[in-house]
Amino acid sequence: MIMLEKTGSPRYASMTNRSIFNDIDVGNFPTDYGFARQQWVQDLANFPGDCLHVMHPCAGFGPQGESLFTDTAWIGSVDAKNVLVVIAATHGVEGFAGSAVQRDILNLLAVEQLIIPADSALLLVHALTPWGYAWSRRCDADGVDLNRNGVDFSWPLPETPDYMQIRSALFEHDVQKRQRALHEFSLIHGRAALEKAISGGQYSDAEGPFYGGKKPAHGRLVCQRLIADYDLAHRRLAVVDVHTGLGPYGYGEIICDHLPDSAGAAIAHAWYGDAVTLPLAGTSSSVPKLGLLDYLWHAVMGDTGCYITLEFGTYPTDQLFEILLRDHLLWADQRYVTERMTHGDVMRRHFCPPDPAWREMVLLRARQVVCQALAGVSA
Ligand SMILES: [Zn+2]
Repeated sequence: MIMLEKTGSPRYASMTNRSIFNDIDVGNFPTDYGFARQQWVQDLANFPGDCLHVMHPCAGFGPQGESLFTDTAWIGSVDAKNVLVVIAATHGVEGFAGSAVQRDILNLLAVEQLIIPADSALLLVHALTPWGYAWSRRCDADGVDLNRNGVDFSWPLPETPDYMQIRSALFEHDVQKRQRALHEFSLIHGRAALEKAISGGQYSDAEGPFYGGKKPAHGRLVCQRLIADYDLAHRRLAVVDVHTGLGPYGYGEIICDHLPDSAGAAIAHAWYGDAVTLPLAGTSSSVPKLGLLDYLWHAVMGDTGCYITLEFGTYPTDQLFEILLRDHLLWADQRYVTERMTHGDVMRRHFCPPDPAWREMVLLRARQVVCQALAGVSA
């Protein structure tokens, strides 16, 4: 049984009777969005405790004509003062790991190997970008990266001259030519500047990668609805947003995009320890980015909670860029409809390697972090 310590450091959970290593089931990883949703809904229907399932329909359809939903589940007391929010598929194709993590949590709760402390509740948010999950893309149907969509659209949108400088190289069909151009940029401005120019977010090129859009996307609207419906601004919040594709293979990095000297960063360190990395302090695999979903939640959590991205590494960042750029190139041109489907397999393998060892690492690390989050938010 995974119990939360009642005394001592809030960042540790203690295990009694059974080990956190027991019953890791890599079969929790789905093969596609439709199956993921079916399994998730079934687990919830079989859940022995109180839970409230809400469906948030999303415009569009999946490749098999399936309807698209973000599903949410509130587990625990409706009056809970503290809430752990676990988000899957902020970036659609990264949802395979997020679904598996949420199913693992549900299964652990169902057999009481994991206990939600009194005065606390759990809010699972499944498939926040369902279109991208269904079509094996990071973005939504409008090409919008939800994790660059968190800007104030009533103000002029950020300009990104570095992105515009490398834009033609990104859409260059000749891979070697592209890599030469990007290498030259990196020699002049540095590697971090190159990664920021490509992935930091841009608001002018709907066909390009890391595009933040012109209006709030589906996933952002769902988050706003959850914050209002559950009055989350008046509760203590721990948010764990599960991502994949950046950092060392299999490692789950705890990325905290709060300001380094903020209460949010201090809380992240208190709850998760020295494993926390800060893009704004240059200690993370991630460079600082515009319009993160984090910022929406930072605004409501005050000085009592924190938001972390739990990012599971897969393959090198240059490979990630090549695969993503090809994805955007194929989706920008109607002639490549068939190639898009084949490339979807490449995307799925990149963001969720079909390797039982990688999948075990994901589930094991997620258990650690969920225990730390529950202990921290409930302390
Ligand atoms: Zn991501």
